[in-house]
Amino acid sequence: MSRFDGRIAIVTGAASGIGKEIAFRIAAEGGTPIIADLNLDAANATAAEIKQKGGDSFAVAMNVTDEDAVEKGIADVIAKYGKIDILVSNAGIQIVKPLVDFPFADWKKLMSIHLDGAFLTTRACLRHMYAANYGRVIYMGSVHSKEASKLKAPYVTAKHGLIGLAKVLAKEGAEHNVTANVVCPGFVRTPLVDKQIPEQAKELGITEDQVIKTVMLKDTVDGTFTTTDDVADAVLYFAAARSNALTGQSLVVSHGWYMQ
Ligand code: NAD
Repeated sequence: MSRFDGRIAIVTGAASGIGKEIAFRIAAEGGTPIIADLNLDAANATAAEIKQKGGDSFAVAMNVTDEDAVEKGIADVIAKYGKIDILVSNAGIQIVKPLVDFPFADWKKLMSIHLDGAFLTTRACLRHMYAANYGRVIYMGSVHSKEASKLKAPYVTAKHGLIGLAKVLAKEGAEHNVTANVVCPGFVRTPLVDKQIPEQAKELGITEDQVIKTVMLKDTVDGTFTTTDDVADAVLYFAAARSNALTGQSLVVSHGWYMQ
């Protein structure tokens, strides 16, 4: 008996990086990850890879900022599987610029993917979780849910906001056996981070190596990147929790960059 036997888990942004690893790990422990991503080709490829390894998976096209697209994606999952046990709200982007010239359009885009996306997917899944009297919701926060960095105003603001959303859901969801928690990774080498290394080097006037050593990993205990596997460990821990005891929490996985 595996921890996620029979569990249906929507993972947004699961066609790449951290979400993809979470999907693989859920499948490896008997669950069915639903790969919900803006990029349908990549989502289909991820689902196909999981099936090739003997797991079950299903890809749905979903722009998490679009109410109709979220509702349709969730309806398709319900039509196929009849329930949703786990939501990992993970889709996200990064845009780095100084606050003084941050374009309003970029601010709104980032806030929308992280916060509207978390809200819309949560609301759509909750109806089914409440009906089934079971649900595990995990938001992908960041060390930036607790800490700030230069050049990341909307990201830091949005990631702090997810902790508020998780706490409200922890209170509202309890009577329906729905828990809500946040996982807060340090820097992980995914396309999202690879893109911002040259961008930060340019904005800060330093080399890419200096961005890694003096910005990204400076405050870690061992100068080491967090891995997608490390983050998946924490997500699966929350996803497998057996009662309402573990709810409304946020867990930092960052090689000690941020210590609570
Ligand atoms: P990634 O770029 O590898 O993957 C992000 C995925 O989200 C992509 O597949 C992309 O297509 C999808 N996506 C983007 N916009 C979307 C939308 N509107 N609707 C649906 N899907 C969309 O990034 P990642 O590093 O794996 O990041 C995943 C999450 O982890 C993000 O929320 C990010 O903020 C968070 N995070 C990442 C790091 C890190 O260092 N990489 C650290 C802390 C937190």
